[in-house]
Amino acid sequence: MLSKPRGIIPSVSNYSSFLFPSKLPQALHSHLSLWILHILVIMADFQSIAPRDHEAYMRFALSLAEKSDPKPTNFRVGAVLVDEASNQILSTGYTLELPGNTHAEQCCFEKFSASKGVAADDVGTVLPESTVLYTTIEPCNKRSIGNLPCTERILKTRSAAKGGIKTVYLGVKEPETFVGENKGRAKLEEAGIECVHVTGFEKEILDVATAGHPS
Ligand SMILES: [Zn+2]
Repeated sequence: MLSKPRGIIPSVSNYSSFLFPSKLPQALHSHLSLWILHILVIMADFQSIAPRDHEAYMRFALSLAEKSDPKPTNFRVGAVLVDEASNQILSTGYTLELPGNTHAEQCCFEKFSASKGVAADDVGTVLPESTVLYTTIEPCNKRSIGNLPCTERILKTRSAAKGGIKTVYLGVKEPETFVGENKGRAKLEEAGIECVHVTGFEKEILDVATAGHPS
């Protein structure tokens, strides 16, 4: 069942009764109701974010992190790719959203490249020049089992013709639980990618990230 956003949508059946005649078969009626609810949820999530409202985008990323199943073996992270020039959300992702041991940033990239019909490795060729990335936790620089770290994925977008990701907004430095000190931010900055710490969400981000970990 789709979750209902906090107090924004009054009643879906009201909308569907208004928009669609009540003579419609019940199954179609409820299908349309769900469809309308889905669209309204997306609108409530996306359209309320003003351009460069970094706190609102970080909160949105945090809401994505909450969609990841709590597990003791990973952090729950959320990420959003935004074209800062047009304030358009290009893609979203969260930990383990896609099959495999997938990270939030990786899911953003893979979903976007798939939507553009290019290989995941070539995502940089289809990203607008003003693309920025919001991620609740600093991008990883090491991965335990043969997966490309997110820092490398971000850097690879820069080697493409169009410029790739220019800024990474992060909510908290990666805790040292799994792979020791994370040099992701330093590595991105050395390569000329601006990293901005969006402050004020540290406790919430870590609470969400570590849900399911032994206390
Ligand atoms: Zn990662």
